[in-house]
Amino acid sequence: MTYDCVIVGASFAGLSCATALAKLGLRTLVLEKKRDVGEKLHTTGIIVKDAIDQIPLLDNLPPELVRRIEGVRMYAPNFRYVDLAAPGYYFLATNTPDVLRWLAEKAIEAGATIQHQTTFQDAKRIQSGFDLGEIGTTRYLIGADGPRSRVASVFGLGQSQHFLQGLEHEYADWKLELPDRLHCFIDRRIAPGYLAWVLSGVGMVQVGFARRHNQRQMTTAQAMNQLLEKIAPIFDFRGHEPTAVRSGLIPCGGVVKPTAANRVMLVGDAAGMVSPLTAGGIHTALKHGLAAGHAVADFLNGKGEDPCQGFTKSYPSFRTKRWLRFLFDHFQSDVMFNLLIGTRMMRNAASVIYFHRKGVFDPQGEKSKS
Ligand SMILES: Cc1cc2nc3c(=O)[nH]c(=O)nc-3n(C[C@H](O)[C@H](O)[C@H](O)COP(=O)(O)OP(=O)(O)OC[C@H]3O[C@@H](n4cnc5c(N)ncnc54)[C@H](O)[C@@H]3O)c2cc1C
Repeated sequence: MTYDCVIVGASFAGLSCATALAKLGLRTLVLEKKRDVGEKLHTTGIIVKDAIDQIPLLDNLPPELVRRIEGVRMYAPNFRYVDLAAPGYYFLATNTPDVLRWLAEKAIEAGATIQHQTTFQDAKRIQSGFDLGEIGTTRYLIGADGPRSRVASVFGLGQSQHFLQGLEHEYADWKLELPDRLHCFIDRRIAPGYLAWVLSGVGMVQVGFARRHNQRQMTTAQAMNQLLEKIAPIFDFRGHEPTAVRSGLIPCGGVVKPTAANRVMLVGDAAGMVSPLTAGGIHTALKHGLAAGHAVADFLNGKGEDPCQGFTKSYPSFRTKRWLRFLFDHFQSDVMFNLLIGTRMMRNAASVIYFHRKGVFDPQGEKSKS
């Protein structure tokens, strides 16, 4: 079988890319190692309002798959807290497995094929593109295969070196007080370099944290136990078995170099397209996947250059966010957060991080709803 484009990875980046390509009439195949796109999740699945506003693919996202979260309650290490909200701004907690299944249906409706239980191992360059053995040949290859991209390693593309490690427990049928808040906890011991959180999701409560990768003082399991102990005075999950566990790496060093070479490119987490500060990557993966799909379709239809040339120049540098990440990594102080939590300065800084829009991948010419 001969394809115009083979995409490795059927998650946010791969499915949005496949939908864009297939809608433009290209023969598109998505390879996914899992049996079902909604199993073994590596994400909390919060979608920011900007994604809903800007990404037409999310129009008609079924309301039963999401819950509105109106703001953030941020707790200092000593539990003093501040409530943050921005007029008109919200996050969506999601039934993430079903959101991914819904995105997969969109890609299939557009004409893409998804081949599950197929792990990409290797491909050979041929004159017309790539030979993937039994799978067939393709004119273009896209790696949407997450932070440890096999496509990147086979073709010598850039790979992320800096990660946060996330771990999350799901507790089914729990009810939280203040369910319309994302409860965030700062604690340098448990979550160095990031935060812990409690979220009233869709049909369950999610309790998790992320921290700099390769922490030696405590395993992630020990850190989770400490988190559950710590937050017990507010939310007591001790002694309850989680109904599911999510974990994974979040690239936080910015866009990898190079992200593309002749007829092969990386999108989403594989490309390091994640905000180094907030570690949010769903919005960027969806936008990047769609834009890459359009750029590759133009190239294959003879209307543009290989996206490995011009398109990748529109990528964000994340310079400020990488600088802020460096500061947070090196100078995070529980004492400082305890002292400053209620101040106008801290409130303003936190509001900018949670609610502002800059630094998200936004290539020129990309369709926007607003
Ligand atoms: C614990 C945690 C919590 C997070 N929470 C949030 C959040 O709330 N909001 C947010 O915006 N971001 C969050 N992120 C980040 C976000 O999940 C990612 O940025 C996003 O999932 C990236 O999507 P992607 O499609 O690029 O890659 P991924 O979601 O990583 O998908 C990669 C896909 O490729 C498949 N694959 C991998 N290798 C192969 C192979 N060799 N062959 C075939 N298939 C392969 C995988 O099975 C997977 O389906 C979180 C991350 C973690 C780890």
